[in-house]
Amino acid sequence: MIEVLKRELDCPIDEMTLCPNEPMSRHTSFRIGGPADLLVLPKSARAICGAVKAARAAGLPLTVLGNGSNVLVRDEGIRGVVLCIGSEYADIQIEGTRITAQTGALLSVLSNEAQRAGLTGLEFAGGIPGSLGGALFMNAGAYDGQMADVVLSSCYYDAQSGEIQTLDGKDHAFGYRSSIYKSHPDWIILSAVMQLQEGDPDIIRAKMDDFAGRRRDKQPLNYPSAGSTFKRPEGYFAGKLIQDAGLMGYTIGGAQVSEKHAGFVINRGGATCADVLALMEYVQREVLRQFGVQLEPEVRVL
Ligand SMILES: Cc1cc2nc3c(=O)[nH]c(=O)nc-3n(C[C@H](O)[C@H](O)[C@H](O)COP(=O)(O)OP(=O)(O)OC[C@H]3O[C@@H](n4cnc5c(N)ncnc54)[C@H](O)[C@@H]3O)c2cc1C
Repeated sequence: MIEVLKRELDCPIDEMTLCPNEPMSRHTSFRIGGPADLLVLPKSARAICGAVKAARAAGLPLTVLGNGSNVLVRDEGIRGVVLCIGSEYADIQIEGTRITAQTGALLSVLSNEAQRAGLTGLEFAGGIPGSLGGALFMNAGAYDGQMADVVLSSCYYDAQSGEIQTLDGKDHAFGYRSSIYKSHPDWIILSAVMQLQEGDPDIIRAKMDDFAGRRRDKQPLNYPSAGSTFKRPEGYFAGKLIQDAGLMGYTIGGAQVSEKHAGFVINRGGATCADVLALMEYVQREVLRQFGVQLEPEVRVL
């Protein structure tokens, strides 16, 4: 497959790292997932566009990922090319109160950089283990903030037209854990500009520490997971419903409803994707039976 991709590439091959037969368990926060036929780690926008174009020209299926913290990859793995936009495409520039970053930048790094520069607005993002790309796609949020509050614009590569386009803040159609990118799988997000406000670095740090402490107290951060397994249903909290259904600690294979926070399914060790899916289905069935509420997965199954 490497040769097929290389033949179609119109950018230098050294602008990306190619990993054939790469276990996706190494690239997901759940530590679950069979092999990708070919994992590509891009180092430039040219490499991202080049790899996408080459995969399309070669007729290979393409999957785009950031830090893999909101996905569950099947045990059979992923056929075709998986473009993992991460630490090799993560430049961050700060000018005045604006931050421009490539989408492989981690939210934790962005949040820390903003704090160091005395900029407030990204404190909420400090403990979210995703990349900027995944965060825009999901409109990631926590505590008092979400990406929608800070994004001024973003740039994406439209794989269909082959052009790079810009979206203004209001055009992102941000909603609860969603954005316009969710309905456009052919748009690969390259960078974003965030508008922050001047603030006192000590006050910003204190707020970040407070959020981090709350996470440590409530969330099972010592086990691999993909964060909240289900979306918050209108008028309820998924974790509370699951707890009230008596499912805390319920286990199938290596997958368990966390005993610390019922909203999280964790990998207790050696969990397969099949274990997690079976557990999710059981939880959904029980919550529906006991409370008449249909839980919808927040985690994306690939
Ligand atoms: C312990 C833990 C705590 C969490 N806490 C929170 C929280 O408080 N709030 C919250 O919102 N989420 C939380 N999450 C979930 C997750 O971190 C976020 O959804 C995050 O935004 C996902 O980013 P990612 O880079 O890991 O995306 P991935 O999981 O890699 O991908 C998610 C989706 O985004 C798409 N995508 C990623 N990058 C791009 C790109 N450049 N272009 C186009 N599409 C792209 C992928 O195709 C995929 O469909 C948590 C997860 C964990 C494990």
